[in-house]
Amino acid sequence: MTSVNSAEQDLLAIVNAQIVTVDVSGTVIANGSLVVGSNGAIRALGKGSVPHDALETIDARGAIVMPGLINAHTHLGMTLFRGLGDDMSLEDFLARLMPAECKVLSPEAVHAGTELAALESLLGGITTSLDMYYLPEAALAVAMSSGMRIQTGPNFLESDGPEPLPFNERLAWAEKWLAVPRDSAGSTGWLAPHSTYLLGEDHLRQIADLASRYEARINVHAAETVGEMQAVAARHGGRTPIQVLSDTNLLRRAVLAHGIHLSDADIALIAANNASVVHCPASNFKLASGVARILDLQRLGVNVALGTDGPASGNDLDLWIAIRLAGYMQKMMAHDPTVLPALEIVRMATINGARALQIDHLIGSLEVGKRADLIVLDADSPSLVPSFDPHVTIATAVTRADVCHVIVDGRVVVKNHMPLTIDRQSVLSAVRALGADVLASVNSR
Ligand SMILES: [Zn+2]
Repeated sequence: MTSVNSAEQDLLAIVNAQIVTVDVSGTVIANGSLVVGSNGAIRALGKGSVPHDALETIDARGAIVMPGLINAHTHLGMTLFRGLGDDMSLEDFLARLMPAECKVLSPEAVHAGTELAALESLLGGITTSLDMYYLPEAALAVAMSSGMRIQTGPNFLESDGPEPLPFNERLAWAEKWLAVPRDSAGSTGWLAPHSTYLLGEDHLRQIADLASRYEARINVHAAETVGEMQAVAARHGGRTPIQVLSDTNLLRRAVLAHGIHLSDADIALIAANNASVVHCPASNFKLASGVARILDLQRLGVNVALGTDGPASGNDLDLWIAIRLAGYMQKMMAHDPTVLPALEIVRMATINGARALQIDHLIGSLEVGKRADLIVLDADSPSLVPSFDPHVTIATAVTRADVCHVIVDGRVVVKNHMPLTIDRQSVLSAVRALGADVLASVNSR
């Protein structure tokens, strides 16, 4: 307990914790300590007490400490349109949403919507999000100010969005985006072609060429609805979205949102290309999109992560609901309660998300040397006591209200349920102020 204020002083110690590491073995430390070193990485982790000289100590009082959740598919700025298009098909929803986005979105509006999303995410235990939205510079600014990790990149779709750029100019803008040096997590190393139903083959190939030159990743919707399958078949000569992505050299870089309507051949292609699938069960349920073949994907070794989808289709950014629905849906469809056991679902919400984003060497599990992205659940939550098997507790009982402390990159961003990096009232005011514009944009149609 020496060296106060030295450069090497530990940032934080969490003691008396039930530590869910989500390491390869699924190790749980029943009563342990975790120390965050001066560089924001996990310096020590073990049973009982661990020597440290941290100024700040959190006594977990037996509560679960686990990796921060990773939301591998979302549209953060879409909080502005939450609840605007419900009880309708995805196609009708998009027809309602997209014109509203064109009228309302500005850099300031996207910033407000994204900051609200960051507030909602962090309070609910999400420490990293893969975002797909317009004007992505706004998301980077929110990441910087809030401390939440946001991975993002330019969007591509062949319609006049809030960024009305001809395709060639959009490609040039995307190249400038990719040419900027990335942070250690590669947060800006993404291109986001919306889908194969909203883009032609020539444009998809050009996006693939650009991605190849800059080793960028591809964030894309694929095989979400029956309507999409029909539209893609009509536009791309009878092929499936996965076949189109494979033929255009995009699949090997892809994180595929949804992946519901997959043939056996599609699943084999996804596996062969080492692409990840992001399962978004809340959105899939609400839009009646279908049930993803998670067990078949996993059987072939495909990495499956979890997402909320956008808060206009989700409708919230609650990954605990995704955790619960994912397990329950697969058990129900298989008529077998033993499939997709709790630890596997916990992996989907944490390390598999990190793997999809190719940052599993940095985050996604609690191990010495990794960045300290973690959450501490509430020791006094009635529904979490007792916790004989914390993986089961996480997969079946935890809600957002149980998230007590949130740490990202060694920095405490939520303490005792209170956000430390975002001014809650100013964010809520900014989004409420935009509400009239959103309603006017719909009513004027
Ligand atoms: Zn989406």
